[in-house]
Amino acid sequence: MNKYDVLIIGAGFAGSVMAERFANDGKKVLVVDKRSHIGGNMFDYIDDNQVLVHQYGPHLFHCKDFFVLDYLKNFSNWYPYEHRVKGYVNGKVVPIPFNLTSIEMLFDEDEANALKEALINEYGMEQKVPILMLRKSNNVMIRGLADFIYEKVFKFYTMKQWDLTPEQIDPKVTERVPVFISYDDRYFQDEYQFLPEDGYTKIFEKMLSHPNIDIRLNTKAQDILKINFEDHKIIFEGSEFSGLFIFTGQLDELMNYRYGKLSYRSLYFDLQSHDGIYQETATVNYPTPEAEHAFTRITEFKHLMQIKPQRTTIAIEYPYPYDENGEKGNIPYYPVFTDENKTIYDQYVEDIKAFDSFVLLGRLAEFRYYNMDGVVAAALNKYKELTQGNLND
Ligand code: FAD
Ligand code: UDP
Repeated sequence: MNKYDVLIIGAGFAGSVMAERFANDGKKVLVVDKRSHIGGNMFDYIDDNQVLVHQYGPHLFHCKDFFVLDYLKNFSNWYPYEHRVKGYVNGKVVPIPFNLTSIEMLFDEDEANALKEALINEYGMEQKVPILMLRKSNNVMIRGLADFIYEKVFKFYTMKQWDLTPEQIDPKVTERVPVFISYDDRYFQDEYQFLPEDGYTKIFEKMLSHPNIDIRLNTKAQDILKINFEDHKIIFEGSEFSGLFIFTGQLDELMNYRYGKLSYRSLYFDLQSHDGIYQETATVNYPTPEAEHAFTRITEFKHLMQIKPQRTTIAIEYPYPYDENGEKGNIPYYPVFTDENKTIYDQYVEDIKAFDSFVLLGRLAEFRYYNMDGVVAAALNKYKELTQGNLND
């Protein structure tokens, strides 16, 4: 007999949305997380400076789908916030994504006018062009500009972040920050851009507060369950678990690396306190070579807050190779999107298909470059799919 109908590994958005949905349906749910807190990478807290710090890097909510925001409104009030990023290019601090203002700031007037005209003629205003595509333009002037942007904005940032060049990684990664033929200097153009009034952690507290939900922190899945590949069973605390199993962590680790290791990239956040204001924008990127700046970006959290405290806290973001036992770099923040990893991942997924009621969800388990809205949408969609007939009482 199982005490729980649903067993969820991971208390990030993927796990917490599922827990909330099923608990609401009357199911008994257990959420397990190896960390000492809920919220996964969305976790935030108020520090000694009265600044709301996002412990695992700056998290801005932006999405196109109203149903995601509509659902999240059940757990918080949200205030409008549009993120703006600048980057160090040739000693100047220019808008990122690289846009028409960036051109005006970096080239003399005649050259800037010629470049803007060429871009607008070729692609039109308000268009986004991925850097790798811009480099393939037939127009010599545009190609020259593209090479400049590639060298000054993408090459070194990407090498620092991924230890790969932009060509060695899935093009969708650099497409996230395309060259923007526009004067719109927002980092995202999605219709809905907000931040939660009391931070993200409070959302998770509310989501997981249902009496049908039990939470076990500081607990690694592998310590309480065993995946039996021969007869496709999950053994949970000594007996077979026949309910719904939802896993949101690293699949290769859960499956004892039987098809090899997937690669991930990590980060180290150097948190610093200062007086007043540290920088003019919430985030400043450093797309400079590693020898000049080993970090990729600095975020000043105060700019995200409605009421600005006196002092300020910044996070300097250093990319790191992932090493689960390392003092730094022990969190797998980013799946690395290469063909090799995809081949390994697909083998793991094939094995999972043989199990009944074994769901992979979220950024790690699905090995996808999800933003938070994507994870929430995927969880809501998966819940719908599972409750339209598949899950037995
Ligand atoms: P996670 O939040 O990683 O949760 C997974 C949980 O599972 C973790 O708590 C982990 O401890 C637990 N776990 C894993 N394996 C095990 C195990 N074996 N046993 C027990 N527990 C386990 N998105 C945006 O929309 N906007 C942003 O501005 C944004 N900025 C980001 C900045 C950074 C630096 C990073 C890394 C991500 C950012 N994201 C952003 C993405 C966002 O963090 C993710 O989409 C979201 O947190 C993913 O939720 P999840 O539940 O899939 O994973
Ligand atoms: N990127 C870059 N230079 C920049 C900003 C982004 O080269 O100034 C590239 C880099 O490869 C990065 C990717 O675009 O990993 C996606 O950037 P995004 O800001 O979306 O990354 P995230 O916030 O997910 O770390």
